[in-house]
This record gives sequence, structure tokens and C-alpha cells, in this order.
Amino acid sequence: MKLNIREVMEAGTLDLTDVIPAKDIPLDVMDQPVLTDQIRVQVHAENVDDEILIHAQLMSKIRVRCSRCLEESTSPLSAEFDMEVPSSHIVVDLLEESRQALLLALPAMPLCRSDCKGLCSQCGKNLNRGACGCSGERRENPFDKLKDIYFH
Ligand SMILES: [Zn+2]
Ligand SMILES: [Zn+2]
Repeated sequence: MKLNIREVMEAGTLDLTDVIPAKDIPLDVMDQPVLTDQIRVQVHAENVDDEILIHAQLMSKIRVRCSRCLEESTSPLSAEFDMEVPSSHIVVDLLEESRQALLLALPAMPLCRSDCKGLCSQCGKNLNRGACGCSGERRENPFDKLKDIYFH
């Protein structure tokens, strides 16, 4: 993903879209997540007082493991970054900046969906697939029993 600074200088502003194959941006994160789609890039570059101002937007998809139910799912990932380059440059490579921006945009606590019910703390069943036999009884919390005694 290279931007020709000369072209920006000549045109004043330049908009371009490009596609980066996912394998060109290794995220190097342990275990996960993994980019599952090519990265679509939209770049806007502008010549302002002999500085080239670059704004880039990135869109892709990642496969993540839900932090509640541990199921793998695919979700959209978008990121953006700004860059300033002296107009004396001839070509600027946006690949490393793109990689950094995507890394920053990765969710810290990925969820398969916002209302994921997670796993039963007693039997480990994935509660998104239906209730388990434990029927929500929470033996590990003695205050529930106290509530029964005092408020009924
Ligand atoms: Zn989940
Ligand atoms: Zn259970």
C-alpha cells in the first residue's frame, strides 16, 4: 500500500481506495485474533504548506474467541490513522501504519454478541444454546440463602 507523494503534490488532494491481502498484515498476536478478510483501505491525502496530511480508514474482519463463552466468531474490524509526511518524500508506504492501527483497534474483551450468556459456572455448558440442568442455583453465594430467610 504505497502512496505517491508526487501525485498528491500535483493534484493538491488525492483520494484513493486499495485492498491489502490479509497475509500482508500479520498481527503477530498470540493465539488470536486472525484477520479473515482482505483489508479495504480508503486514503485521503492533502498537500498543506508542503506537508502531506494523510488520513486512512481501514476495514476488515477478524475471527475472535468470545471472552465469555469461548466460541469463535467473526466480527467486523475498523480502524483509522493520521500521518504527516514532508513533501520531500517521493513514496510513502502505509503498510506498517495500517498494521499498528488495526492492532490498536482489536477488542480487549471480544464478545460473540453483546448479550452473550457465557458458560454456566457449575457445569460449563454454553448457555447461549439453552439452559442447563443447574437452573441458575448459585450455591457459591451464601447471601442468597440469607435473603430467603430474612425477606420471606
Ligand atoms: Zn459468547
Ligand atoms: Zn450448569
